[in-house]
Amino acid sequence: MDRKTIAALRQIVGADHLRTAPEELRCYSYDGTAREFLPEAVALPGSTDEVRAIMQLASATPFAVVPRGAGTGMTGGALAVAGGLVLALNRMNRIIELDAANQVAVVEPGVINGALRDEAARHGLFYPPDPASYKFCTIGGNVAECAGGPSAVKYGVTRDYVLGLEVVLPDGRLITTGVRTAKGVVGYDLTRLFVGSEGTLGVITKIILRLVARPQAKATLLVLLDSMARATGLVTEILARELPCTLEYLDHTAITLVADRLPLPLPPETRALLLVEVDGDRDAVPLAMARLRDFLAATGQVLALREASDPDEAEALWAARRALSPAAFKLRPHKVSEDVVVPRSRIPELVAKAEALAEELAIPIFTFGHAGDGNIHVNIMLDRTNPEEAARAQQAKELLFRQVVALQGTLSGEHGIGITKAAYLPLELSRDTIAVMQSLKALFDPGQILNPGKIFPPAVPPKND
Ligand SMILES: Cc1cc2nc3c(=O)[nH]c(=O)nc-3n(C[C@H](O)[C@H](O)[C@H](O)COP(=O)(O)OP(=O)(O)OC[C@H]3O[C@@H](n4cnc5c(N)ncnc54)[C@H](O)[C@@H]3O)c2cc1C
Repeated sequence: MDRKTIAALRQIVGADHLRTAPEELRCYSYDGTAREFLPEAVALPGSTDEVRAIMQLASATPFAVVPRGAGTGMTGGALAVAGGLVLALNRMNRIIELDAANQVAVVEPGVINGALRDEAARHGLFYPPDPASYKFCTIGGNVAECAGGPSAVKYGVTRDYVLGLEVVLPDGRLITTGVRTAKGVVGYDLTRLFVGSEGTLGVITKIILRLVARPQAKATLLVLLDSMARATGLVTEILARELPCTLEYLDHTAITLVADRLPLPLPPETRALLLVEVDGDRDAVPLAMARLRDFLAATGQVLALREASDPDEAEALWAARRALSPAAFKLRPHKVSEDVVVPRSRIPELVAKAEALAEELAIPIFTFGHAGDGNIHVNIMLDRTNPEEAARAQQAKELLFRQVVALQGTLSGEHGIGITKAAYLPLELSRDTIAVMQSLKALFDPGQILNPGKIFPPAVPPKND
């Protein structure tokens, strides 16, 4: 990026909102993967017009542009792998409108997920997508990744709440997609195309979101078990009886990592834990929880049941669950964190495979996750400075992915592909499917300037089909 380009960028966003000093660039060089790629400049636009001007400049020059929210992504989507400009949307953080009567919010991309949830709550409404990073990730990043969280088992993921978008295309054109009504089928569903597109097709500058009525009550139950097989086996049985708003599990290693944060001592035989929540009508929730407790007690399979006595105790349980990702680094300095999904009934097979891989390859692997929707976080722990261990971790990842596909699952439920899974895309998608996706990318971004190097492997090898 030459001085003329830098000067033009400064002209667009103002000197205060363009970063070029090495120490400032460093702050935008990494994300949740802990990998680092230094951009050549960082621009923090304050409006859609500024985003448009930047994209016009980028396509005319050309230079690479990498949209970025909070940089919490787990697959390297916000990393400037080809240099160029990081377009940080954090200043565009207004909740433009909260239309309570129609249960709709219109927001800029830099709004923090938690801020929207709080604002919706003030109007008696609820924005369900709740990634564990909700206190700091942005709605723009959530839309670009189609983020999900524990509540997805009942409420679905980000795509289920995006009604419409405003998007700046790589050449600077501005389009709007979707509706702000409950229904709408005019033309192709471009909204759904942009959701989960990982910042490769356009820069999202405005988002119209569906809200729902806030549940009146919630109850939280901790279920302790002496085996992982029992825990995963119970998941389908619970779902056959109640629709919880959360059904999470932790394996033994995961429990050990956060045991000191749990608000109660665990029996020493504890090997697995389920966290089950039901929400809804004030009168219905205690009844649903009582049915669930009765069922679980009658199975004779649980070590202990503990219902949170108040919201503070429930929050303490969740704080422990959210602390799991960072706590993993007690095991090894680096982590390969996968978010695979399998049909619920196949969770036991997947967990057994992860355990077998840990044993065979002598590498720490632990699992936890959204058991209710089959979305399992498999964490392969390693020290990247040890090449031999790094190779074993890589092997574990590939064998895991092959097993996931064999179980009719998918490589990613919420973190996307980015750079960390790009090489494995052909395991799941056929050559023709990938080619169609690449044609779409070329249609929106013929100059390949927007977030290059993401999703697609550099040269797609033929699928083994
Ligand atoms: C501790 C921790 C827990 C997490 N838990 C979860 C979880 O439970 N569920 C889950 O789904 N994810 C989770 N994540 C991953 C991450 O928080 C989500 O992917 C989140 O949606 C990323 O938002 P962000 O603002 O940080 O986006 P970034 O990381 O900055 O960007 C992510 C992607 O979005 C693109 N992007 C960002 N803004 C825009 C925009 N305005 N227009 C176009 N593209 C854009 C970027 O180019 C990039 O490809 C977790 C991460 C951490 C660190």
